[in-house]
Amino acid sequence: MLLTSLLRVFLTRSTKPFVFEGTYKNKLDFETLDDLGLYVHIPFCRSLCSFCPYCKEIYDKPKADSYKIALLKEIDIVCKNMIGKKQVTSLYFGGGTPALMIDDLKDIIERLKQYFIIKNGIGVELHPDDINEENLQKLKSAGVTMVSIGIQSFDKNCLEKLGRKSDSFIDKLEMVKNSGFDVVDVDLIFAIPAQTNEILENDIKTAFDHGASQISTYPFIDFTFADNVYKPMSGKIKKIMLKRLVGYSSKMNIDRTSVWTFSKKGTDKYSSVTRDTFLGFGASATTLLKNSFKINTFSIAGYKKRVEADALPTSLTLNFTKRQRAVYYLFWSAYSMKIDIDKFENIVGMPLNKMFGLECFIAEKIGFIRKNNHIYELTDKAAHMYHYIEQVYTTAYIDKMWNVSRNVEFPDKIILR
Ligand code: SF4
Repeated sequence: MLLTSLLRVFLTRSTKPFVFEGTYKNKLDFETLDDLGLYVHIPFCRSLCSFCPYCKEIYDKPKADSYKIALLKEIDIVCKNMIGKKQVTSLYFGGGTPALMIDDLKDIIERLKQYFIIKNGIGVELHPDDINEENLQKLKSAGVTMVSIGIQSFDKNCLEKLGRKSDSFIDKLEMVKNSGFDVVDVDLIFAIPAQTNEILENDIKTAFDHGASQISTYPFIDFTFADNVYKPMSGKIKKIMLKRLVGYSSKMNIDRTSVWTFSKKGTDKYSSVTRDTFLGFGASATTLLKNSFKINTFSIAGYKKRVEADALPTSLTLNFTKRQRAVYYLFWSAYSMKIDIDKFENIVGMPLNKMFGLECFIAEKIGFIRKNNHIYELTDKAAHMYHYIEQVYTTAYIDKMWNVSRNVEFPDKIILR
């Protein structure tokens, strides 16, 4: 807590905390934004995994059908005043388990395409249980070009610790590979109790050998509201494992594309979190605009109720100060290990060197960043520091935010210090 507060005060030059208000607007200013992305949340799963913090409920067909109607309506409400179609970078479906609504994805994509031109492809998160020829064909015919498979580990023991079963993962990955998607991402978790470096390296090798073009690795985080029987390994072990992971990837000639993602050379990336600005649709979806960040309610019933009343299902809005917006931009750019100087100025409205000249100077001197034309690239040394800070923020900010949002449909206010 102390670290997050100190960093916030230092970087924003203010003691003002991040204040998320329960008020909201029914019109979003996104039409003039460059590099806008789209995200749609499908909050249904067959069963609920103990480690998972995301917004989801057990799948139920009538509930999913009425959710789809609300989702289409939310898209219409957000887009009703648009003048012409807007170009966006990409569209990602996350969850939950989007494939549980596989026959609806095409309609949702078509509705979005009435308003947007999707430039760089459509991505969908896939649970291994949903991988079969028929579903992959449906995704292809809906226009999906990227998939991210939540495998978490190929090791039976590790999966059991996460409350999951292994089920012909290698065959399924091969099937996805042969379906010809542009990007095949495999999600892997590290620091699962009893996981060794050798098991982790074997997970990475297996993923790449059988069709992954990218892997996204996440440290096992024990959210306060999760129901984990087994607890993650210590921060020190997580750090050592990440170092091994980085070393192994470089030995295998695989590019590090963010703090926790690694890609085969020359392949496109699956990245739903590093857009400069994005519109999110569905329960719990977030929207990042030039001056604000908003979160939809986590309650599916509350979401439907708002949308049926022709109102946006926003539960909380953070109106950024200039420095808060700058810090938010830097946080997510740093995750992708590239800070674009021109984009920073475009979004924040002030040159990076004017706002954070001293910090950039020091970071360059101590070997955290290096300048490459108009980009500051993070070094591995800085990425290790980021790995630590990201987890501290996840515990101090995201855990608190999600915990309240899971319990209160439309909170009055959340203050993050
Ligand atoms: S990990 Fe995936 S399948 Fe499990 S509860 Fe979370 S979203 Fe659902």
